[in-house]
Amino acid sequence: MGGGGNMSSKIEEKKNIAKRVPSSKPPFTIGDIKRAIPPHCFERSLIKSFSYLIQDLVLVSIFYYIANTYFHLIPTPYSYIAWTTYWIAQGCVGEGIWILAHECGHHGFSDYQWVDDTVGLILHSALLTPYFSWKHSHRRHHSNTASIENDEVYKPRIKSKLRWYYKYLNNPLGRLLILAFTLTFAWPLYLLFNVSGKKYDRFASHYYPYSPIYSDRERLQIYISDAGVIATTYLLYRATMIKGLAWVFASMGYPSLL
Ligand SMILES: [Zn+2]
Repeated sequence: MGGGGNMSSKIEEKKNIAKRVPSSKPPFTIGDIKRAIPPHCFERSLIKSFSYLIQDLVLVSIFYYIANTYFHLIPTPYSYIAWTTYWIAQGCVGEGIWILAHECGHHGFSDYQWVDDTVGLILHSALLTPYFSWKHSHRRHHSNTASIENDEVYKPRIKSKLRWYYKYLNNPLGRLLILAFTLTFAWPLYLLFNVSGKKYDRFASHYYPYSPIYSDRERLQIYISDAGVIATTYLLYRATMIKGLAWVFASMGYPSLL
């Protein structure tokens, strides 16, 4: 009897969920939305885009110059405040540069595909992101956003398939831990091992040209993306040899984490 009641309440719960989830097509198309946006919003100005990039590069250079030239003169504990301020400021502007490369991946930087891909490749490689690899997977993320089956990343989790330990994380401290983990390790783990990404039947990685994420047409560009990341890694290695690991982390590592 009790079991039957349980069953009917479960059916009722499923019906309520079904009511909340829009399953029918909306009464408008993407074309309708695009037509409603003023045409000038779709214009891509090369000069305007480069002005944003130069502005960010100038700020990054100024922050770096100040830290490199004056911070060793500041006594502790004031130097801790100075470095923390630097990491936050440099991290914010660095994120802006990363976003400009993201726009290049969407062909939103200029009218010229080759300009967008060249700028995007240089900027994302400098920030250790494989440009084309992420550009292709990210495009599929936008065309399948929030799809349980087909989204490339940020796949909504099904309650019945949550791992056993999630019930212990459903509290403020647990959420804080998840947030801290997501902000530090989630991005590299996604790129390296497709953690939290769409499920594939074999090994998937943004650095592996024969990964099932990519079509045969895209594989050459994955090699180019890897070469960009390797070039930056080599420059960081050279910088570490000259200035030391602590300096590389303080001036570049922590801002990119923030
Ligand atoms: Zn995007």
